[in-house]
Amino acid sequence: MTDLAAYVSETDITEAIIQSSQRITPESTNEVRLIVLHINSPAFYFLEGQNIGVLTPGPHPFGNKTHHRYYTIANARKSADGEGVELELLVRRCFYIDEVSGEQYPGEASNYLCNAQPGDKISLTGPHRSPFRIPADKTSNLLMLGTGTGIAPFRAFLRRVYQEQGEWDGKVRLFYGARTGAEMLYMNDINQDLTNYYDQATFKAIQSLSQGVLKDEGDALQNGVEAHASEIWALLQEPKTHVYLAGIKKISAAFDASMAKIAGSEVQWHAVKQALIDDKRWSELTYH
Ligand SMILES: Cc1cc2nc3c(=O)[nH]c(=O)nc-3n(C[C@H](O)[C@H](O)[C@H](O)COP(=O)(O)OP(=O)(O)OC[C@H]3O[C@@H](n4cnc5c(N)ncnc54)[C@H](O)[C@@H]3O)c2cc1C
Repeated sequence: MTDLAAYVSETDITEAIIQSSQRITPESTNEVRLIVLHINSPAFYFLEGQNIGVLTPGPHPFGNKTHHRYYTIANARKSADGEGVELELLVRRCFYIDEVSGEQYPGEASNYLCNAQPGDKISLTGPHRSPFRIPADKTSNLLMLGTGTGIAPFRAFLRRVYQEQGEWDGKVRLFYGARTGAEMLYMNDINQDLTNYYDQATFKAIQSLSQGVLKDEGDALQNGVEAHASEIWALLQEPKTHVYLAGIKKISAAFDASMAKIAGSEVQWHAVKQALIDDKRWSELTYH
């Protein structure tokens, strides 16, 4: 019995092999890598928007028995071909500051993943259930708002609706905020993945950058949202609009603040949002 068994039953752990790892942000910015994993089992089935857990090998600091962190699957499922399953992860190399010493230490799971080499084995849990789901009705509107690695579920969604399914009749709107153009994941000089969908009649991507050195990607997203507030508001009135928020935690409050302005008051916005939540058309996947 290993210490992993303390966290989940060993039968719930899937072994994956690193197939490739590529940095998709320039050296001058925070490191984000696209990591492709191969799972040698066609039975591993996931839906777009789901997360897997990564268990890093010990020993762990602070006497912890396990270190388990979630990562969103950034690709769409493919029909099983007997060759196993590929998972793409978008991982940002994280650090934390020790409150006592003030020193900076590498985050365990993200550094483990970012340092992993092709051929290395990784222990996974999941796929875990997620509120992020593509609606079955192709005439639904998808309003996606994100920052940073929060683009991962949207990349999976876009691949599913345009590449794997082939068409989507509802409006698909991606609002993405970043501090700099280089940090526009999948829309920067290194990786232009999302341009694949620009000729789709129903797709529109709205990118916004933060204005001012002290502003972060959450502020950037808010700029983009406020510049298109009436378009977003109109979309929210449509009964087939589904809202998805992904990325840093503050985007949720920032979106609320922007929408309260156009709704006329916080109370009015709260009523609209609550109706979307009650109707299962609102989901958030935010972290740290
Ligand atoms: C449902 C869910 C899905 C997630 N999906 C992804 C994903 O697709 N890609 C991804 O890179 N991370 C994702 N995360 C965050 C991830 O689970 C880890 O928290 C992160 O990698 C840090 O873990 P660590 O062990 O390296 O460092 P830890 O020691 O746990 O934390 C290091 C520090 O990094 C900060 N931090 C954590 N995540 C981020 C981030 N993404 N950007 C900036 N700072 C951060 C933490 O606040 C902490 O201060 C997700 C989290 C959740 C809950």
